[in-house]
Amino acid sequence: MTETAFITDPAELGAMLSLPQEEITRAEEVRKTAPFRVPRRLAGLIEKGTLRDPILAQFWPKEDELRTVPGYSADPLAEQTLEENRAGIKLPDSLLWKYAGRALVMTNGACAAKCRFCFRRHTLGTAAPDWKKIAAFLENCPEIEELILSGGDPLGMARCELDTAFHYIEGLSFVKRVRIHTRYPVLFPEAVTPGLFDLFDRLRSHQKNLIFVFHLNHPSELAPDTNRKIQEFNREHYPLFSQTVLLRGINDNARILARLFTKEFELGVIPYYLHQLDRVAGAAHFEVPDEEGRVIDGELWKILPGYLVPRYVREIPGAASKIPLL
Ligand code: SF4
Repeated sequence: MTETAFITDPAELGAMLSLPQEEITRAEEVRKTAPFRVPRRLAGLIEKGTLRDPILAQFWPKEDELRTVPGYSADPLAEQTLEENRAGIKLPDSLLWKYAGRALVMTNGACAAKCRFCFRRHTLGTAAPDWKKIAAFLENCPEIEELILSGGDPLGMARCELDTAFHYIEGLSFVKRVRIHTRYPVLFPEAVTPGLFDLFDRLRSHQKNLIFVFHLNHPSELAPDTNRKIQEFNREHYPLFSQTVLLRGINDNARILARLFTKEFELGVIPYYLHQLDRVAGAAHFEVPDEEGRVIDGELWKILPGYLVPRYVREIPGAASKIPLL
C-alpha cells in the first residue's frame, strides 16, 4: 500500500469532485486543525458537485469545525486522564482498561481515512504500542478475557507490527477473545490481504476467538469491493458486528439506517451499536440531539425486526459500561 493510494489535500479532492473554489479554499484552512486523508478508491464513490454526499460529508473539512462549543473537548472520553485501572495502577501507554474483563489497545493512528467526527482526532498518536510492556502488564491481569484492538485502525498496522502484536497476545493464555475494530474493509478493502487472513488464522489456532467490528455509517459505503471483502470474513466464520455513529446530515434518518442495517445483515454482519456522537472539539455540527436520536431509534424498532436494531448508546467517561439511550 503506497501513499499515492490516498488523497491528502482537499484541493485535489475538491478539483476531482468539481467543488466550488471557495469551499476548497475554506477546507484547506480548516484541515490545518486535523489531518485530511481519503483513499482514492473511496473518492471514486463520491457524487460530484455536492458537499451533501454522505461519504464526502464524513471527511470534508468544514468551517463549523473552528467553532468553540461548550461541552466539546479534545479528549471527550477522558482517555488521556483516566489512565489508571481499578487498582490505581498506572497503565502502559496505548492501553485502556475501562470495563470489567476487557482491555483495549490503541494500536496506532494509521487510519485508511481521517473522519472529521473521530473522537480521537486530537489525541491519536502515530507511535506503535510497546507490546512487550503491554503483555508484561497484562500477565498480572488474568481477569481480562477480551482484548480489543482499536485505533486508529489495527488493520493499518504494518504486517510485521501486527505479527508482533499477535505473538504477544498468543502468549496470554487467559485472553479468550480478541476483538478488532476496523474501517479498512469499508474504506480501503484491498489492504485486507490474504496475508492478513493468514495472521488471523494463526491467532485463532491459539484458541483465541477472533471477532470483527466494522465501522459503517451509510449504505453507500457498501460498494461491491467492500461487500466482497466482508463476505471473505464471513466465509471464514468470524463473528461480524457493526457500529455506526449517528451523524447529522449523513444518517440521521431511520430509512437510511434501516437500509444500512439490512444490507449489513445480508453480508453476515450483525448491527451492534448505534453510537451517540462523542463530543470532541470540532465535531459539534455532526451531533444529533438525544431526543431526536430516540425518535429515530423508535422508528427503527417499528420498521425492522428486533435483531436488526443495534443498541443506541452513549459513552460516558468513567462509567462501567456504555449507557443505553432508551
Ligand atoms: S479511528 Fe476510526 S473514526 Fe477515527 S479517524 Fe480512524 S477510522 Fe475514523
